[in-house]
Amino acid sequence: MTHVFPRHTKATLPIATRGEGAYIIDAQGKRYLDGSGGAAVSCLGHSDEDVIGAIKDQLDQLAFAHTGFFTSHPAERLADRLIAHAPGTLDRVYFLSGGSEAVETALKMARQYFVEKGEPSRKHFIARRQSYHGNTLGALAAGGNEWRRAKFNPLLIDVSHIAPVHEYRWREDGESAEDYGLRVANELETEIQRLGAENVIAFIAEPVVGATMGAVPPVPGYFKRIREICDQYGILLILDEVMCGMGRTGTLFACEQDEIAPDIVTIAKGLGAGYQPIGATLCTSEIYDAFVQGSGFFQHGHTYIGHPTACAAADAVLTKLTEGGMVARSAAQGEKLDAALRAAFGEHPNIGDIRGRGMFRGLEIVADRATKAPFDPARALHKQIKGAAFEAGLICYPMGGTIDGQRGDHILLAPPFILSDDQIGELIDKLDTAIRSVLG
Ligand code: PLP
Repeated sequence: MTHVFPRHTKATLPIATRGEGAYIIDAQGKRYLDGSGGAAVSCLGHSDEDVIGAIKDQLDQLAFAHTGFFTSHPAERLADRLIAHAPGTLDRVYFLSGGSEAVETALKMARQYFVEKGEPSRKHFIARRQSYHGNTLGALAAGGNEWRRAKFNPLLIDVSHIAPVHEYRWREDGESAEDYGLRVANELETEIQRLGAENVIAFIAEPVVGATMGAVPPVPGYFKRIREICDQYGILLILDEVMCGMGRTGTLFACEQDEIAPDIVTIAKGLGAGYQPIGATLCTSEIYDAFVQGSGFFQHGHTYIGHPTACAAADAVLTKLTEGGMVARSAAQGEKLDAALRAAFGEHPNIGDIRGRGMFRGLEIVADRATKAPFDPARALHKQIKGAAFEAGLICYPMGGTIDGQRGDHILLAPPFILSDDQIGELIDKLDTAIRSVLG
């Protein structure tokens, strides 16, 4: 009997009792290799003594102080260090408790920026189909995943959704990756023109798409064209790096690899690495100054913003990621993971695509490699693979997305950056067992 409202009401879950490096151990003593960091959260594994020590030290000094009255050393220190590492001219940090809050904050910040500038007609956001930006109503509206939205559609603000970028699925025969990128990026321009630039607030996108498509990176030049269009029409670019940020793709911010900088970026998950719930929304000084020169007040806030203990944990995580070399390790181990995935599954008749960056990798499951047709969604293969992997002692993050109007299956891998070469081997073996038990 449990009184915890579970994620899936029919599931009976094992009780997790201990974390040890890349493993979670349940009450029966069974060990699970965490091949997805939960949902791309646990980038440093589950027992990092430096992060745990930083939390304990902070608790000994001050657990919490409300930001209506105080700032704190951990929040100030973490903001300074994030800004020092951030791309472009990002200059201010608003701390939240997770990813959805960070996205809500980004949307409201962008809207209020234009209100402060005397442009209240701007009320449209543009996002992409097959994106996920969180489960609160604003973030859900920005997301373009129909399945997640369906029950709540009547409650959601009106957001336009343009095509995502997914070379394996939608690049046409004979089209170069660059031309494909320009073609889909230009959909943003068409949509801005349709709505009228004076009515548009911002475009929001994940640099590398996580939860809905399984670690899909953009093609070269796509985001440069997106940045160009946003600048040309005077709309803001919000990048959602909640899942792909904080070293997950091999650079601290995923967008560094696309050589662009956003006006606003959201981070969470790997920021606290699972040791504390924390997210953040970073914006440029231009946006911040509009608030200072305007109403002097961002009309927003939550009880736990800038939580000192969460910030102390994230500051210790950031030290491991940067000075501790963990971002570089994500890049290096990510290459090894990619090579191992290709060696194990590159010829598998039902693995159509292997993709990703750093320790953020995706496999796409197809019924037929030649036509790329997905399996019948009624089979819910992703769920079967998740179950078989869990049975074998591997946590992975499979999902069923919509591809060309049909539900398809992917597996997302986002293991801790500490993963050793042997553990990469263990992950592949267990995934192989799971995939073969389901697909043959
Ligand atoms: N944005 C992206 C890109 C995500 O992947 C997620 C969660 O998976 C969120 C936002 C929402 O974050 P949270 O679950 O911490 O609210």
